[in-house]
Amino acid sequence: MTRVTDTVPTPALLVDKMVVGGELLDARSGETFAVHNPADGSVITRLPAAGAAEVDHAVGVAREAQRAWARRSVATRAGLLRRWADLCEERVADLTKIESLDVGKPIATARAVDGSMLMENMRYYAGMPDKLEGRTIPVSGRFVTMVLREPIGVVAGITPWNFALVGAAGKAVSALAAGNAIVIKPSPLASLSALALAQVALEAGIPPGLVNVVTDAASAAGEALVRHPGVGHVSFTGSDAVGRKVAAAAGGELKTCTMELGGKSPLVVFDDADIADAAKAAFLGIFLNAGEMCTASSRLLVHRAVHDELLDAVVATAGGLRIGDPADESTVLGPVISAAHRDRIEGYVQVGRDEGGDLVTGGARPDLPGFYVTPTVFDNVEPTARIAREEIFGPVLSVMSFADEDEALRIANDATYGLGSGVFTARIDRALRFADRIEAGNVWINAYNLLHPAVPFGGYKNSGFGREGGFSGMSHFTREKSVWFAAG
Ligand code: NAD
Repeated sequence: MTRVTDTVPTPALLVDKMVVGGELLDARSGETFAVHNPADGSVITRLPAAGAAEVDHAVGVAREAQRAWARRSVATRAGLLRRWADLCEERVADLTKIESLDVGKPIATARAVDGSMLMENMRYYAGMPDKLEGRTIPVSGRFVTMVLREPIGVVAGITPWNFALVGAAGKAVSALAAGNAIVIKPSPLASLSALALAQVALEAGIPPGLVNVVTDAASAAGEALVRHPGVGHVSFTGSDAVGRKVAAAAGGELKTCTMELGGKSPLVVFDDADIADAAKAAFLGIFLNAGEMCTASSRLLVHRAVHDELLDAVVATAGGLRIGDPADESTVLGPVISAAHRDRIEGYVQVGRDEGGDLVTGGARPDLPGFYVTPTVFDNVEPTARIAREEIFGPVLSVMSFADEDEALRIANDATYGLGSGVFTARIDRALRFADRIEAGNVWINAYNLLHPAVPFGGYKNSGFGREGGFSGMSHFTREKSVWFAAG
């Protein structure tokens, strides 16, 4: 068993209970499930295996707390959210250590990427409460029409494991900024950082019951949460397979939902691009976070004229990547989340071989105790191949060549997903045509994977619907009420 007190300076943040209504709770049945360290397979702790009863209790206390929260002034709400943000900043080293331990994320990445994203989200949404305005509509001289913007009530936040801390924080602070309470149901593979975040909220003076976290071993609590009549909106991030079930269940209860789902994002590099910049983006786009990113640039589309130069640069960097213990400051590539996920990724490597792609690097299991996959690159992949179409969610890159702009766009758009996309070119007309014609919710030009909470983020096609971020995101956490005055 990993001794958490050795790794986390504030062990009080690392709990083995759920945070509900300001209390630390077990499941009523007393049942628990094991949380594993992906770096060595050891058991970090055990967490309560909640179900419908615990969800019912959490939604009840959330509803109660939300009524009082919505009545408080926007200045009070913003002030408390700022205190929560301040305390997150003080504790960011601990929060990112917990995330690194639980998810297998290299600690340097956790601090630089997840820590920064956490603080950007906390700060941005803490400033949101007094920005959510209603409006008036001049329909007639005889009437005054006001549109009020009200909170939804209780939001269900269902999150995946790959960005567990940032995912939970973004949903929680934005839901609260709009006057809601939230019940977070994190992934069973990575629940610890959401539990820590909820404790920091309590410490900061966020009233008990506004940020609740229920944990489950598979899907019992998640399913109960989506169906619960006290939940007004379901904010889901995860796979498209589970997203379909959650959207169907939410639809069955006539409640709104947003779906942030998977991807198979193309990064397109033209022959006039800065190849060094493109190679760096291509490399980080697929190998950062061991490829466990919804926006991973898992399809690299390269103009024939620069194919060899770009591929050589990506493969050389991949070959020199430091793989190993996530707690080591110099580690760049940590383990993937679980043994089952490693096996699934290895299954795709075999599929890639069987489909006739050229395995240029990687594909072997490193001699390390945890769940590791080496950075893997397949060249000459057919656009119809499974490794070019299905989300692998690991460090596996499929490289394809194209002859001209039309062919590049055709391949890029020949996908069931539509989340991220990137284009590297020196020509502004080409970049703008690409932005216009690409079927994806996010386009990066001469860059990749830029995110900010002020900028709407979300998918096209099977990558989901609804947006997180900015006022677009806030619109899902509020509803409009139209009020008519007879003015004379
Ligand atoms: P997943 O779909 O397996 O699980 C997501 C969450 O749903 C977990 O908390 C899980 O316990 C819960 N869940 C499972 N079954 C449920 C049910 N029937 N009802 C309610 N909840 C249920 O996803 P994952 O493996 O945790 O995460 C990886 C996926 O998430 C990838 O597809 C990735 O692309 C996607 N993702 C998307 C974004 C985005 O913003 N678009 C961000 C991160 C990850």
